[in-house]
Amino acid sequence: MHQRVELSLRFNMKSINSELPIVVTGGSGYIASWIVKYLLEDGKSVRTTVRSLKDTKKISHLLELKDKFKDKLTLFEADLLSEGSFDAPIAGAELVIHTASPFFVAGIKDAQKQLVDPALQGTKNVLLTCNRVSSVKRVVLTSSVAAILGDNIDSLQVPNHTFTEEHWNTTSNLKHQPYAYSKTLAEKEAWEIQKSQSRWDLVVINPSFVMGPSLSKRLDGTSVEFMKNMLKGVFRTGVPDTKMGFVDVRDVAKAHILAGLTPNAKGRHITSAEVIPMLGVAKIIKENFGNKYSVPTGNLPKALVYVIGPFFGLSWGYTKNNIGQPLNLNHEYSKTDLGLTYRPLKDTFIDHVNQMESAGLL
Ligand code: NDP
Repeated sequence: MHQRVELSLRFNMKSINSELPIVVTGGSGYIASWIVKYLLEDGKSVRTTVRSLKDTKKISHLLELKDKFKDKLTLFEADLLSEGSFDAPIAGAELVIHTASPFFVAGIKDAQKQLVDPALQGTKNVLLTCNRVSSVKRVVLTSSVAAILGDNIDSLQVPNHTFTEEHWNTTSNLKHQPYAYSKTLAEKEAWEIQKSQSRWDLVVINPSFVMGPSLSKRLDGTSVEFMKNMLKGVFRTGVPDTKMGFVDVRDVAKAHILAGLTPNAKGRHITSAEVIPMLGVAKIIKENFGNKYSVPTGNLPKALVYVIGPFFGLSWGYTKNNIGQPLNLNHEYSKTDLGLTYRPLKDTFIDHVNQMESAGLL
């Protein structure tokens, strides 16, 4: 114990007292629900926030966890835009995992209001609460690779077309890739707030597109909707020839927990199993489920994506800057700093389809 304290001081490590409740914001969400579940299964006490305790449909999976783990799980109401609403859940906690933030890329009418305000003000709201609560020692923030790059074409500016944690998205704005813009602003703000004090440190997880089984039956999340559309034949005529990073939701959840509880964890972490073409998802599904689902078998010509893309939320700017462009994401730091391992994407997609089937979502 004595040696641990000494090491912590020498290397500025943050040892978290894991007997204290761990706060997870946005527990109703796809990623956060796995974080909450894993923490509870590991014997930790968890406080999680949801927008409304009355919305039992959205939080039914949390209520099931509550049934199983009883007092180990406490649910709080909090809204990103409501100042002070995170005070109660964070009071007395040492570790805060902030995941809540809107994630959607289609159907955006007012990007400032729908994306930037909740992402940015929400991050300020949660982190300024951490400044006020003297017990907080570490904050883990769910950012995104969208805070690292805006479009695949940005890779032409980096060595070997490979992004690392050194890179920042400089190309997104309110009109072009507003979700990516919201994540970039929120992560930058988080680092600014962190630098203004020295009690708590910040560890950031930057996942690529997250897939894999969901703990809830919700279909309104972007990740789950993508898989539903793939299986329901929405893309059967073809997909854009775009490369994307993918990662399993269970690995992303583990990354957050490792980021919170590894004393010397530091900095940003690209959390992405592999970059594959979008068509690669369909190939894996076809290989494992045969003709059960009308998944695409080819890429759409770029000219056609310009025409039909906007109906699927793909702007001309997206098409121009992403189709046929290279992309590599270096995830080595997540392995060395956090000890994270990645499961193969094949397992991720198969488990996702199986979960959707058994939940009656298809
Ligand atoms: P979900 O949509 O499932 O979860 C988003 C969470 O944020 C929900 O709990 C939602 O609450 C909450 N939220 C949104 N707006 C507010 C608000 N105004 N006040 C309080 N809570 C709010 O998405 P994911 O789980 O996929 O995303 C979680 C995080 O991971 C986000 O920060 C996202 O940017 C990031 N991320 C996601 C990736 C992915 O591929 N899924 C990739 C990279 C990063 P409610 O349930 O009430 O809607």
